[in-house]
This record gives sequence, structure tokens and C-alpha cells, in this order.
Amino acid sequence: MAETVVKIDNLVKRYKELIALDHFDLEIKKGEVFGLLGPNGSGKTTTINCLLSLLAYDKGDIEIFGEKMSPVNYGVKKRIGVIMQNVAVFDELTVYENIDTLMPDGFAGKRVMSAAIDYFCGLYITDKATRKKYVDDAIAFVGLEDFVKFHPKKLSGGLLRRLNIACGIAHKPELIILDEPTVAVDPQSRNKILEGILQLNREGATIIYTSPP
Ligand code: ADP
Ligand code: MG
Repeated sequence: MAETVVKIDNLVKRYKELIALDHFDLEIKKGEVFGLLGPNGSGKTTTINCLLSLLAYDKGDIEIFGEKMSPVNYGVKKRIGVIMQNVAVFDELTVYENIDTLMPDGFAGKRVMSAAIDYFCGLYITDKATRKKYVDDAIAFVGLEDFVKFHPKKLSGGLLRRLNIACGIAHKPELIILDEPTVAVDPQSRNKILEGILQLNREGATIIYTSPP
């Protein structure tokens, strides 16, 4: 029996009077590619944000890698890679710097403003040579070799998505969560992204992705 990677029990999330998640259960085993499918507003992003402890919920239990998930469970967080629905990159940084997250002094404070930042690679890999290899691997994986010195504003929508993915997977996470990775992406980038997801899975990662049905 494969190990359970994600276990959600009885999750309830309300936004004031709106019940976004009503006693939701989910179990995902190691090695799965799990598609969380549902129309807009069905609670996919809410589920992911609760799962990652980026959002407080009203009721329920969430375990990842057999541990209770919490905002300060950094041991678990570093094993997860997240690609958010809305592309989240820093316009001030180049493609390479975004993936590397090697901050000049003074910038670090800005980063910490976003809780999601916990899931980027820079905070976890301090050895310079290893980090460079990880960043180079991520760049090659998404095919952004020719754009490393570009700033995000100069990238097309598809390339920006690929940068977003590189940021999420650079630290070689065991669990990768992608929220609508292929929505509003041109067919070519879409195929590349889907092939990439399967490749990451073949290399051993457990995958959760969301999509409209
Ligand atoms: P999906 O990702 O499947 O489109 P969401 O999780 O974003 O769904 O939204 C689920 C429901 O919760 C929707 O009805 C949405 O309008 C509502 N919702 C999401 N975020 C908020 C929020 N911050 N405040 C109030 N309602 C929200
Ligand atoms: Mg969503």
C-alpha cells in the first residue's frame, strides 16, 4: 500500500455566510497525479489554501506526509512545491533571480510579506553550488534558458506561466500542487506544461492539479 501523502478530513471553510467547503474529505497516495476538477467557485483554490495553511478554516483535520499541517510546519512545507493560480513572480527580478530568490539586502523583508513565499526554494537551499544546480535544472525543465536575464514583464503569457512553474519546483519537492496551470495558456505551452507535470510524476513527485471540468 502506497504511503498517504495528503489526508483531508471533514474540512469546513466558511467565508462569512458562504460555505465554500462543506465537510470535504480527500486522500491522496504517494505517486498519484490527482486532478481536483470543478467549475469556477467550487472551492478548488480554497481547498489548496487550506491544505497549505495559507488560509484558516472552521473545522477539519489536514495531514501531509503523515504530519498535522500548520503554518509553522516548515519540515513539511519544504517538501511541497506550489504553483498558484495567479502568476506570482517579482517584477523587479530577472527570470533567474526569481527562481533563485537570492535576495539583495533589504529585499528579504518584502518577500516575507507573502506567506506563500515559504514554498519557494531560496529559503531552503543555502549551499550555493547546489542552489545553482537546482535553479539551472528548473530553468532547463521549463525551457527558459534563453530568457534568464529577462524581467517578467517582457515575457509572453505562456513563458510567464513557465517561470511560475520553475519557481514552484526548483527545490525538487515531493508534493507539487498546481492551481489551474493550463487555464488561459496557448495550446503549445499547455502541452509542454502537461508533459512537464507527467515528467515530474515519473521522477517521483506526487501531483495535485486543479482544472475546470
Ligand atoms: P475555485 O478555485 O474552484 O474557483 P474558490 O475556492 O476560489 O473556487 O471559491 C469558492 C467559493 O468561495 C466561491 O463562491 C468564491 O466566491 C468564494 N470565495 C473565495 N475566496 C473568498 C474570499 N476571500 N472571501 C469571500 N468569498 C470567497
Ligand atoms: Mg481557483
